Amino acid sequence: MPRKVATNERYDAVIVGSGAGGGMTALVLASKGLRVLMLEAGRDYDPYKETPMFAVNRDAPLRGEGTTDKEFGYYDATVDGGWEMPGEPYASAPGSEFMWWRSRMLGGRTNHWARNSFRMGPYDFKPHSRDGLGVDWPIAYEDLAPWYDKTETIVGVYGSNDGLDNHPDSSPGVLHKPPAPRVGELFIQAACRDMNIPCVPARRAVLTRPIDKRSACYYATDCGRGCSIGAAFQTTTSLLPMALATGNLTIVTNAMVYEVRLDEKGRADGVSYVDKLTGKHEAAFGRSVILAASAGETARILLNSTARSPDGVANSSGQVGRNLMDTVGAAMEAQFPLLENRPAYNEDGAMGLHLYIPFWLYREQARGALDFPRSYHYELGADGRRAPGMSMGNIADYAGGYGVKLKQDMRRYYGSFLHFVCRGEMIPNTGSYCEIDPETTDKWGIPTLRFHFKWSEYELNMVDHFQERTKELIERLGGKIHWGDDPPADAISKGGQIIHEVGTTRMGDDPESSVTNQYGQSWDVRNLFVMDGGIFASKAHKNPTLTIMALAWRNSDYLAEQLGKQSL
Ligand SMILES: Cc1cc2nc3c(=O)[nH]c(=O)nc-3n(C[C@H](O)[C@H](O)[C@H](O)COP(=O)(O)OP(=O)(O)OC[C@H]3O[C@@H](n4cnc5c(N)ncnc54)[C@H](O)[C@@H]3O)c2cc1C
Ligand code: SF4
Repeated sequence: MPRKVATNERYDAVIVGSGAGGGMTALVLASKGLRVLMLEAGRDYDPYKETPMFAVNRDAPLRGEGTTDKEFGYYDATVDGGWEMPGEPYASAPGSEFMWWRSRMLGGRTNHWARNSFRMGPYDFKPHSRDGLGVDWPIAYEDLAPWYDKTETIVGVYGSNDGLDNHPDSSPGVLHKPPAPRVGELFIQAACRDMNIPCVPARRAVLTRPIDKRSACYYATDCGRGCSIGAAFQTTTSLLPMALATGNLTIVTNAMVYEVRLDEKGRADGVSYVDKLTGKHEAAFGRSVILAASAGETARILLNSTARSPDGVANSSGQVGRNLMDTVGAAMEAQFPLLENRPAYNEDGAMGLHLYIPFWLYREQARGALDFPRSYHYELGADGRRAPGMSMGNIADYAGGYGVKLKQDMRRYYGSFLHFVCRGEMIPNTGSYCEIDPETTDKWGIPTLRFHFKWSEYELNMVDHFQERTKELIERLGGKIHWGDDPPADAISKGGQIIHEVGTTRMGDDPESSVTNQYGQSWDVRNLFVMDGGIFASKAHKNPTLTIMALAWRNSDYLAEQLGKQSL
């Protein structure tokens, strides 16, 4: 990788960030013959050499358990990042508690993510039209559907077409065959069948047939460590190598971008960055600038770009940093006597979900039978060695005694725990936003972010509903709640904890209330684009990354067309 950019070079596009949004943008633009520069704040990362696919936890410090600087375990793929990063602070405003996960490495958070990949549906793009809350997107599902197909094809997503309300099918042949359900998942599915709740194959960005140089999943190890065979999607084994192969992409790592540069006509002519290895300030120039640094970082860069506009670049609406949303999270776990003493065998599978429960109550909601406006889905934890439902910690709560009795108990309870996770939609509110902290800078002197965050009754009522339905499911299966039955205000996740933060540079039809148009193009600076989750107008319960990539592809097609017409 080159260390810095020749300042006399002027690229067609300068992209900030190499995660889901940046990776897709780079591939689309480079494939169209445009000369692309990507600046990435993190270090270079080679998943083929660095992924600890077959390392075993017993060889790791603390048997691989998570620590404060390695939350998801010793072997987690996040080689540089986490909730806290030395020298790169952020703050929560008094009365708020916000958590911000950053992965400073080539490929960003895609090296780790859980790969759950659900399409948003027609209702999700027009939420205000359904319930009068939040705002509608300036596009409808049909506008994005072709790019969902293309994205799923290149990414590789397993799942099935089930014809469910607001859970769109993919075009024939797009999806990979889902892995067979595990025992615990079949167990839950049986109760769901009795209760008229759908329980269907999940959709995950994991290959079950090979694509090009990427192999199919062979159920090797936890996908959170990364996947050196390319079966679990991450930009470092797919979009970035493909984009580099065009010969049109240059990547510079350790480049911490802090501002968008404007020329005297108010157009973006590049970005300024700190070369983290030398500490020197550098600049890179392009005909267009694309921010894909993640919703929080992109807002931070815009708000810090005050050389020519005191409120930050692209912020005439005052909406940069506003409308911050995260997914609503809650969980419950239970122990099931019917699953005791079953044979122990390898149930790892593709590590994450094989089955899940999509939201099924849209009709009841439309006729006012629910006390919360939006929707949620269940992610089920029934894996083999990985899920908390099988963990030794849980078993230890039940097993007792010494010697033979202890061994018998361990065998008895192993595999008898199941985990139910809520992932729900948050409605944007005026109390949730990020802003520049007037008091703090990072180790390079760049002002940092301060987060404000509030849940509302809508989200708390949703968690209550999830808890009541889950208790019914558990009861039907004869289980006992192990944990997770706290009051909703305690059970709900902290802001940012689900790591789906979006909305801080939202798209819209009106420059007064949105930061970009439907293509992620700034209303104020026509050759400046946002290609990450910042542009989300709402945060459906569907996990955001597939939509980030589908939008990045659609919006990059538009950008390339505009560059071709010299109209930016
Ligand atoms: C544990 C975990 C589980 C997850 N599970 C799921 C899931 O199942 N499904 C799902 O949809 N999503 C999931 N996510 C979220 C998903 O990872 C993100 O939605 C997605 O990666 C966002 O893409 P992005 O391109 O916006 O940002 P990122 O992937 O974070 O990439 C941003 C990149 O920009 C770089 N960058 C940041 N600031 C700067 C700067 N100033 N200058 C230069 N470069 C910069 C970063 O280093 C990073 O490489 C999960 C995330 C985590 C951590
Ligand atoms: S379970 Fe499959 S997809 Fe996940 S890391 Fe292992 S081989 Fe890769």
